[in-house]
Amino acid sequence: MRMYASVIVDIAHSNIDKAFSYEVPEDMNVVGGHRVLVPFGAGNRQTEGFVVSVSDKPPQDGTRLKSIIRTLEPYPVLLEDQIKLAKWIHKSYHCLFVDALRLMIPAQLRGGRVHEKTVRTVEINKAMTPDEIRAMLLTKSGKVRSRLQSEVIELLMRVGSEMSTADIQGFVPGSAGAIKSLIDKGILTEHGRVVFRSPFRYEAKTEDTPTLTSAQQHALDTICGGIEQGGGVFLLHGVTGSGKTEVYMSAISRAIEDGGSAIVLVPEISLTPQTVNRFRSRFGDNVAVLHSRLSSGERYDEWRRIRLGYVKVVVGARSALFAPTENLRAVIIDEEHEPSYQSEITPRYNSVEAAVKRCALTGATLVLGSATPSLFDYYRAKRGRFTLIEMPERISNIPMPRVEIADMRAEFMNGNTSIFSNALYDSLNKCLKNGEQAILFVNRRGYSTFVSCRGCGYVFSCGECDVSMTYHKSENLLKCHYCGRSEPLGDVCPQCGKPYIKYFGIGTQQVEEQFAKYFPGYKSLRMDMDTTSVKNAHENILGAFERHEADVLIGTQMVAKGLDIPNVTLVGVIAADAMLHIPDFRSCERTFQLVTQVAGRAGRKEKQGTVIVQTYSPGHPAIQFASEHDYKGFYEYEIAQRRAALFPPYSIFIRALFCSSDEQSLEMISQRYEEGVREVIEEVLRTHGGDVRELLLALASPAPVKKRQGLFRYQVLIKTVRTKNTSAVINAVYDYTDAHRCAELAALEVNPTDMF
Ligand code: ADP
Ligand code: ZN
Repeated sequence: MRMYASVIVDIAHSNIDKAFSYEVPEDMNVVGGHRVLVPFGAGNRQTEGFVVSVSDKPPQDGTRLKSIIRTLEPYPVLLEDQIKLAKWIHKSYHCLFVDALRLMIPAQLRGGRVHEKTVRTVEINKAMTPDEIRAMLLTKSGKVRSRLQSEVIELLMRVGSEMSTADIQGFVPGSAGAIKSLIDKGILTEHGRVVFRSPFRYEAKTEDTPTLTSAQQHALDTICGGIEQGGGVFLLHGVTGSGKTEVYMSAISRAIEDGGSAIVLVPEISLTPQTVNRFRSRFGDNVAVLHSRLSSGERYDEWRRIRLGYVKVVVGARSALFAPTENLRAVIIDEEHEPSYQSEITPRYNSVEAAVKRCALTGATLVLGSATPSLFDYYRAKRGRFTLIEMPERISNIPMPRVEIADMRAEFMNGNTSIFSNALYDSLNKCLKNGEQAILFVNRRGYSTFVSCRGCGYVFSCGECDVSMTYHKSENLLKCHYCGRSEPLGDVCPQCGKPYIKYFGIGTQQVEEQFAKYFPGYKSLRMDMDTTSVKNAHENILGAFERHEADVLIGTQMVAKGLDIPNVTLVGVIAADAMLHIPDFRSCERTFQLVTQVAGRAGRKEKQGTVIVQTYSPGHPAIQFASEHDYKGFYEYEIAQRRAALFPPYSIFIRALFCSSDEQSLEMISQRYEEGVREVIEEVLRTHGGDVRELLLALASPAPVKKRQGLFRYQVLIKTVRTKNTSAVINAVYDYTDAHRCAELAALEVNPTDMF
């Protein structure tokens, strides 16, 4: 029977982002999900494409169809639910269908930039008997002709299977020539074997499964109810150290026993060997990992191990959600509140929302876990959209760490101008004297957050971006954290010429320097983006800290997640205010989450932990509630604020961002967009029986960071009350934007994670 395929060609352009029909040649096996090579366009250029469906009915428009040239892989690379998920992402996040499809495969697959790795193997010729072989290796008088050749044969006889030539040379050094002679004589036969490049450099230890506590058992039973009954979304709210990871692992075991597979998402920065090893020690070779630090060969091979069904558990960062797992039964999102689950590049999907969708498509159960759930997800759980599970206590009654707030205003008034409050200084002293370890958290890398002249007020800022530059003392450079540009810092102010240059704000390098000054003889390690840019740097720094090769770990957000080191009894938050005053309606929520998470790193085993939070706003509710480990109190406070100010979840933001080197044209474009989009939204509200006052804001203005990498940035910010009309409003904005598409449009986002 003649078959016809709908193909999305692998070219990202809005004009051709639709399915094209092709004829499937008689002898070719093509199903939905195959990647194929097709002739495309007037010149019939050979182009890669995704088959999204196959049918025996020709398209009705009567055009003559071209034929598929060949399939690119012997198996379909996309599963049916992945194609549906891509379609949903395409519709929900206003991106090209082909961009959504590309999310589902390793990038290097496209254009054939990565290949399977084969190794040369040899085995003993099966047509020969051992006696025949021995005879050939001995002289008439019974002497060994070649010691190396005999050793190779003995090795292969002992092993009893094929071996790679590299392995043989490991056992019998210098045997390359001997192997060649044996092949020439016909004693060995030669093959190639496909191998998987592994990202794991050593075997994981196996560990016994602990007996679950009753809180864990209750959580597990609730989640397994979902796994058995075909789905559901569970929000597991458990304090740091309450044993959430054990619950995840037991739920995954259940999914596997049922013949299913599971995906675990963790924030990229907590994809440390510590986390991955916990899963490997439970599930062994049944685990694949996917994250950005894999080489392209490793990534491709891990993806193939998943696609070909060799592994049942995938652990990875955000994009692992799109792994080709058949029979998906459980998806876990750990630290579900993390902003990194929001994609910042096209397609700008949100992993939690996309996971809800994938689970709905496959009947898998979704578990969102966190000690500090995002306000929105907790809100949805409270309203019955998700099932809420609480684990309010740490394992084996280990107390929550004691949190002390250090008022830096009072410290300053009392003459302490160092970056350490008296409380932090004393606690560090005691901790170090006891041979225990500490973590110091600062939310900025570099030395100081900005540099300015006390004579004239000049602030050193990036010429290409509208932001102040950060001082990096070790290199004596000013660096822009937006575009990476750097320049040397002179001794005098470029504006007034006076030598009054002063550093403001504290970065990791400054803490490192001050620690060395106040605590001579103790060792510190620094972990931030500057010290972890090389491969395995994370691993090495954490490993050294775990082996107690340093007393203090100084770092950014990277130290806030997932670390479980028993000897850490003290955590210091150097400047908790840094995030509080960011102009974003979520700054309060972020501060609460970060302080709570960092605090959770202290005293995780028998030893009581202490946390010192230094701040200029000791009375701020985000800091107060965090110091009392009171998530619910914080939630009630913050949700009331959001309701009063009509901020999300009671409203939504949509932002259209325009960029160009021509500021005047940007002003005009954004003005026109504002007027047009306002008209469209009001029209939708009227026709849907809504009230035009649901549109709270539609405003064109320069973006908070007005210039970035030499380009000006203008935005139109839209805010509407969340009602039954909301999705109609979003669709209308998408349609309006499509109809008035311009080259300056850089992004269109609903509830953007960052609004700079
Ligand atoms: P969370 O993910 O909530 O921070 P973890 O799962 O990491 O918590 O558990 C905290 C610590 O308690 C870990 O060291 C873990 O091995 C241990 N643990 C978890 N569950 C149990 C249990 N049922 N019995 C004994 N120890 C446990
Ligand atoms: Zn810059």
